[in-house]
Amino acid sequence: MDFNGDGVNSGHGNSARSAERLGFLTRSVHVGNGIDAETGAIRRPITMANSYALPYDPSDINWSSAEGSIYTRNGGANQRYLQEKLASLEDGEDCVVLATGVAALSGVFFAFLRSGDHVVVSDSTYIAAYRLLNELMPQKYGVRSTLVDSSDINAVRSAVRAETKLIHIETPSNPTIKVSDIAAIADIAHEAGALLSVDNTFASPYNQRPISLGADLCVESLTKYVNGHGDAMGGAVIGRRDLIDKIRAEAMVNLGGAISPFNAWLIMRGAVTLPLRMEQHNRSALSVAEFLEGESAVRFVSYPGLASHAGHELAKRQMPRGFGGVMAFGLRGDHDAHNDFVSRLEVITSAVSLGHDESLIVFLGEKDERQHLYSSEFHDGFFRLSVGLEDTEDIIGDISQALRKTGF
Ligand SMILES: *Cc1c(COP(=O)(O)O)cnc(C)c1O
Repeated sequence: MDFNGDGVNSGHGNSARSAERLGFLTRSVHVGNGIDAETGAIRRPITMANSYALPYDPSDINWSSAEGSIYTRNGGANQRYLQEKLASLEDGEDCVVLATGVAALSGVFFAFLRSGDHVVVSDSTYIAAYRLLNELMPQKYGVRSTLVDSSDINAVRSAVRAETKLIHIETPSNPTIKVSDIAAIADIAHEAGALLSVDNTFASPYNQRPISLGADLCVESLTKYVNGHGDAMGGAVIGRRDLIDKIRAEAMVNLGGAISPFNAWLIMRGAVTLPLRMEQHNRSALSVAEFLEGESAVRFVSYPGLASHAGHELAKRQMPRGFGGVMAFGLRGDHDAHNDFVSRLEVITSAVSLGHDESLIVFLGEKDERQHLYSSEFHDGFFRLSVGLEDTEDIIGDISQALRKTGF
């Protein structure tokens, strides 16, 4: 199917717009792909070139431009194909794809915050968002920030000041799996003349679309669910063209956060099966969370799909297809018991990251510098578990045998 209408491998097609009325699964398969003009191949190729041919007279080219084809740091073919797909899947006008999720986060923060500006940020976020907004930018560039429990709308409202230019939230959040109300916080941001950016990594566009709920910018670590195979890093920001152009010019061309064409190609390939993978992650994680909640060895489980989660009703509205594959839980045991449990797992791998095909677990110990920001159940150490695509019974069986061997 040719969504560009022109049948050529231009990389600048408007497939996201022409595909507007097609379903999410169809767009996951087709948007951004096209017929290669040179070979007739029905898959766009990987273009590993650093440079593109210049016109007869290149003297009036702006070397800092992200338009046209000049140099891969100004925008490469595979990056553009992936941008088309992600803009469509996230219901946004435009998208920029960068080297990592953190390049996407810093792209947003550096583009829209300057010295003297204030930012309101969730007290539960990916560690690099915390580091950038609470240490690096305040200490080096005079940006001010307020950490806030973004699941509490009144707390968000009272944190806003005249100088607030950005509200940044993550929902569900890393690592405590807190849920925040995107539409309500978008209203607060817009009343204050600020932008709302939402890190949508844990939900993925299959489960939640922040732009449709009123966010100005949606950030994704493509390293996680969108690629889904644990073998390529990437990041994206989706939003209005004028906002994305600013990030493209600064974070990509001038700060150098461009993605490798090979990684963009891998992520494009992974994104095709995002809907199918998310269905399985959603279903399996809910079963695992329910199993954990029924185990006497388990001290608490934080998963938005459980009725016991404070954000359950909100998550049902905001994430209509499912609650994702990531949960936090703790055992009724000490530090050593937690490590002992992990050492006895045979199917689930102890490693950072999430959203991969394989199940991953990480023990977040008692030394987390942000512990004072979390509610008390997180203080004695806890796990972040990313439920993978293995048989649900094998994941549950693995947890069960490891608990028994740990002495529970
Ligand atoms: C992993 C992650 C990031 C950072 O992404 P990288 O690709 O590792 O740079 C940002 N936000 C969230 C919620 C993440 O889980």
